[in-house]
Amino acid sequence: MKIKKVVVIGSGTMGSGIAAHLCNANIPVTLLDLKTEISEQARDRIYKSKPPLLLDKSKINNIKVGNVSDDFDAVNEADWIVEAVVERIDTKHNIYEKIFKERKKGAIVSSNTSSIPIKVLSQNLTEEEKKDFCITHFFNPVRYMGLLEIVKNENNDLEKINSLKLFCEVELGKGAIICNDTPGFLGNRVGVYAMQIAMTEAFKMNLSIEEADAIFGRPMGIPKTGIFGLYDLIGIDLMADVLKSFIKELPKNDEFHEVAKEIPLVKKLIENGYTGRKGKGGFYRINKTDGKKIMEALNLKTGKYFAAKKINIKSEKVNLKALINREDKYGEYAWSVISKIIKYASSLVPGITKEFNDIDEAMRLGFNWSKGPFEMLEEIGVVNFFDKVNDYTGNKFLENLAKSKNEKFYGVRQKYTDIETLGKVKKTALSVDGNNSAQIYRFNDYNIVEFTTKANALDYDSMDALKKATDKPLIIINESMQFSAGVNLSYTMDFANIGDFKSIEKFIRYFQETCKHLKYSDHPVISAPSGLTLGGGFEVMVQSNFVASHTNIVVGLVETIVGLIPAGGGCKEMLARWLETEEAKKDPHYAPLKVFDIIGYGKTATSPVEAEPLKYLKPEDKKIMNRNSLLEVSKKILEDNKDFKAAPETKFNLPGKAVKEEMIKVLEKLYNDKIILDHGMEVGKELAHVLSGGDTTIDKTLLEEDIFKLELGSFMRLIETKKTQERIKHTLSTGKPLIN
Ligand code: NAD
Repeated sequence: MKIKKVVVIGSGTMGSGIAAHLCNANIPVTLLDLKTEISEQARDRIYKSKPPLLLDKSKINNIKVGNVSDDFDAVNEADWIVEAVVERIDTKHNIYEKIFKERKKGAIVSSNTSSIPIKVLSQNLTEEEKKDFCITHFFNPVRYMGLLEIVKNENNDLEKINSLKLFCEVELGKGAIICNDTPGFLGNRVGVYAMQIAMTEAFKMNLSIEEADAIFGRPMGIPKTGIFGLYDLIGIDLMADVLKSFIKELPKNDEFHEVAKEIPLVKKLIENGYTGRKGKGGFYRINKTDGKKIMEALNLKTGKYFAAKKINIKSEKVNLKALINREDKYGEYAWSVISKIIKYASSLVPGITKEFNDIDEAMRLGFNWSKGPFEMLEEIGVVNFFDKVNDYTGNKFLENLAKSKNEKFYGVRQKYTDIETLGKVKKTALSVDGNNSAQIYRFNDYNIVEFTTKANALDYDSMDALKKATDKPLIIINESMQFSAGVNLSYTMDFANIGDFKSIEKFIRYFQETCKHLKYSDHPVISAPSGLTLGGGFEVMVQSNFVASHTNIVVGLVETIVGLIPAGGGCKEMLARWLETEEAKKDPHYAPLKVFDIIGYGKTATSPVEAEPLKYLKPEDKKIMNRNSLLEVSKKILEDNKDFKAAPETKFNLPGKAVKEEMIKVLEKLYNDKIILDHGMEVGKELAHVLSGGDTTIDKTLLEEDIFKLELGSFMRLIETKKTQERIKHTLSTGKPLIN
């Protein structure tokens, strides 16, 4: 079965996301709704979406739109018809009747339902039709969420289900997990339970919402929105509907009922329109007082808002053992929540799946947790867990584990896919070295470096690990969301705060040396980025010999935004790339001016398609839809380059003063138009200094070291300014740039 054409019915949040993602995979897709205007509006929404649902906005018209009355004949050409209309069984049944009359024989029909069982959806279908009907449960936003649950039952043609899975894995890049027809499937069953337990325990233990979010967040390897923040994001009213549907579908003895009881405060919030971010606010709200925006948090006892407090639990890294053993209310809350999630998830095995690690993967890909419940159990340690846990009678999984006390119970990870993923390889690889910021693994005859800091921000230790790992071919790759958000600004500011600029200089110099070492190492170095690949992260990638990039990459040099310039080779490499163009060969000013524009504005690209015209990525760099495949593709590059020899050193001929004057003119215009202020001018002049080649002329040949020196000099002058420090501090405390 080949899927060449798809029709999506229902152009709301999910239908439009699915259509956009099919477009990303170059699959012709038709999006139908009740009226063509609705699907047209959906296409507009796709075009304007942020973060963008499309890899390449210019392809928007590859999504055809129409309505279910006039354009239904599109269905008879489709190999797959996805239904994503409202969650109403009568509507869905009517649609299926129409689809099965119209579809070509053997075409797959699937529903995106989150809560209606397959047996109910397919109750009016013939046996023959049931073979081709399943649930394909995508997560929102479709481009970015890795999980796709394919739900089947005993009526399905398994061969067809498997080929659909393969299509979704390879073409759509999804972590496609085949699930049984049980309420909420895997992700929502455990994910919503986890949310409820995190919320109800916070009420029980008298934790403030800020405290609960500070624990049920980064320290547990869970996104920083926490629990109450996540509730606000999803919609407090929508969550209430989800709970109602679980209560209706789940057997009376399911633990879920315990945590799904209506909470009076939550009911009141919904009644008063406090439904979360889309409403008047929710557990948090932004309040404007005296023209200032203030983040407020709800007091769970009084139901009144107060200025939200920042909770510092002094735990930068995920360390579950340390977290649950803390002798304070945070430790107590963490243990209570984690142990209950582990108990609930394990009670569902083998009922909802016989592979417990499918549940972990569903939590990782569907909820962005760094570890699922069983991996949490593995990290805590079996003996430690049973020392602390109380009643688990009737839970077969835990009863067996309590007997075996097998610390290695986990076995292979990510069994649902045949791809040799980093997750699988790490389990069998030798951990050869590591420090606080990175881990080095040896697998067969190559090394892997995985950064391990928050957002994989880079510091001296990260560079140390990279340097050490070049004794073999090296793949720089990671499991966490971001490749690297750039140099660790907080690490840099710690030195700046005590006036220790020598240490900053030493670090930047080491960063440069390491990147140069990667570029000219005897063994090939491959970067396999995904997510944020910014600033210093980009500099590591660009000075690797090969790149295998995930299609969800956010890449760019953004240093000017905090009042700095790239100093780890970013200016150098961008110059080198633009100097190779035909235009640059004719006009020596072309490349420096182009790079000045790109770095000056801190331009970022949100996909490889956007990255190539900026030359952040090259045409020959590999672009991969499935993040799980990054390691395999990187390995293949190694195999294809057994005779690798580093390229000769790049040389630069730059115009110096002549082009610098042109750049200054650009800056003066921006200054006069009040687009930049004094400090912007200062940063721009330093960038101009570097990109023009400093005190040089076109006939002089500069070496990489010369450009590194220019970068370092400018970087140091800027970091010593009060204004740059102020910008960095602002970004560190708010996560946002300082605009002035
Ligand atoms: P939505 O309300 O955003 O969109 C539903 C669309 O269906 C609307 O555009 C509506 O006009 C259209 N529609 C209604 N009746 C129709 C008909 N007879 N013919 C054609 N179009 C019709 O809903 P959504 O959030 O996109 O959800 C769609 C499905 O996906 C539901 O089954 C839902 O349970 C499921 N789901 C939603 C999410 C989510 O996060 N929103 C996640 C996973 C699954």
